Amino acid sequence: MFNGRYGIDELGRFMLIVAGILVVLRLFVNVHALSVAAVILLILVYSRAFSRYFDKRRAENMKFLEMKAKFTGGKHGGFSKPGGAGFGPKPKNDGKRVLICPYCKEKLRVPVGAGTIKINCPHCHRQFEETV
Ligand SMILES: [Zn+2]
Repeated sequence: MFNGRYGIDELGRFMLIVAGILVVLRLFVNVHALSVAAVILLILVYSRAFSRYFDKRRAENMKFLEMKAKFTGGKHGGFSKPGGAGFGPKPKNDGKRVLICPYCKEKLRVPVGAGTIKINCPHCHRQFEETV
């Protein structure tokens, strides 16, 4: 199938994983943009996989691997902080907001700015709507 074609490299696998995460997120939050982004990613993965421009694709993959190495910080692994980010005041929330489930009072973290979203409480498994 991939004879004479580029196929899936590390960048392709990464984009597939991100698309998968977006699809799963879409199950929990009612944000249409997530589905759109997932579809765009899949189109990109497949157009790269069937590309005949190996050099361009390899160059993209190399750039991705370099960025990944910066983020993972070499052999430390995990989510180490990127160096030299400065010591400015830390923003208090990272695009998330804490909501209280109206049924069981469990604290839930939801993304801010998504509009009115349906939230599935992971604690009591009931659903409620909230504007964030
Ligand atoms: Zn609940």
